Amino acid sequence: MNTAVDVAPAAVAETRADPRKAAFEANKLSKRLHRQVGQAIRHYNMIEAGDKVMVCLSGGKDSHALLDILISLRERSPVPFDLVAVNLDQKQPGFPEHVLPEYLARRGVPFHIEAQDTYSVVKKLVPEGATMCSLCSRLRRGILYRVAGELGATKIALGHHRDDMVVTLLINMFFGGRLKSMPPKLVSDDGRNIVIRPLAYVAETDLERWAEHRRFPVIPCTLCGSQNDLQRVQVKQMLREWERQYPGRSDNMLHAMAHVTPSHLLDRKLYAFAALQTTGVADADGDKAFDDEPCAVSTPPERMVLHSQGHPNQED
Ligand code: SF4
Repeated sequence: MNTAVDVAPAAVAETRADPRKAAFEANKLSKRLHRQVGQAIRHYNMIEAGDKVMVCLSGGKDSHALLDILISLRERSPVPFDLVAVNLDQKQPGFPEHVLPEYLARRGVPFHIEAQDTYSVVKKLVPEGATMCSLCSRLRRGILYRVAGELGATKIALGHHRDDMVVTLLINMFFGGRLKSMPPKLVSDDGRNIVIRPLAYVAETDLERWAEHRRFPVIPCTLCGSQNDLQRVQVKQMLREWERQYPGRSDNMLHAMAHVTPSHLLDRKLYAFAALQTTGVADADGDKAFDDEPCAVSTPPERMVLHSQGHPNQED
C-alpha cells in the first residue's frame, strides 16, 4: 500500500540477501504487530464504534507505524471507526513540509496539517543550552487538543510504545520517587479528550524493523536542535543492554505494570495496612512471607506464565 519516498538501505539489503526469508520475517512481524495493537485496543477499550480517531503523526517511525497499523486494522475491524491523521508543523528549520502531505495523500487517509511556529516561541523563552522539550511538548499538547476538538475527534492516538512505557516507569522510580508510567488510555488535563496509546504492547525494535520494511518517509527528530533528555537516553541504553543480556525483561516489566499487588507494596493509600486484622480463615493465596517469590519468565504479556526462580533470602 505504501509508496517509498526514501529507500531504507537495511530493507534493501535484507530483500536482496534472501527475498523469501525477508518476506517470511516481514509477514511474521506484521502479524505480531497487528495482534499486539489489536489486543491493547481491546484490553483498554481504546476504540469504540463511531469513534473518530485522530492519529498524531510526527513523522517519526513510531507514529508512522501507528497510523499504518490502524489503517489496516480499520479495514478489517467489525467496529466501525474513522481515522484522521494530524501533523503539527512546528516550523523547525529544515522541516520538509511536503513529505507528510504527499505521503498521506498517497495513503488515501484524511489528514490535517496544523502549522504553528512553536519553534520560535520555545527558542525565545528557553535559555540557550537548556532543554526545550518540556515547553515544546506542553505547547504541542495544547494545540493538538484544540485541533482534536475542531476536527470532531473523539480519541487522540499517540505513538508511544512498550519501551517508552518501561523507560518512563524506571525514570519515575529512579529520579522522581514515583511508581508510575504512561497510561495506555487517559483523559486529558482539560477533561475534553481521551488519549490512547495503541502501541502499548509493541517493542521499539519491532517498530524500527516495520519502518524499514514499509519504507516510511521518516522525518528525523533532530531538526529542532534540542538535546535529548539525558536521563531518558541513559535509562533507554540500560534497558537495551538488559534486554540483550536477558531477553524478555522489558516484556516482564510491562507485564508487572498490568499485575500490581498493592498489599505487597508500601502505598498506604492503596492498601489499608493500618487496618489489617487476622481473619482466622486459611487463604491459599495469602501469606507467603517466608517463601521464595515466583518470578515471571521472559515471554510477551499475553503469553506470560509463572515459575519459581528461587531467589535466595528473598522475602515477600
Ligand atoms: S526534540 Fe525538539 S521537537 Fe521534540 S519535543 Fe524536544 S524540543 Fe520539541
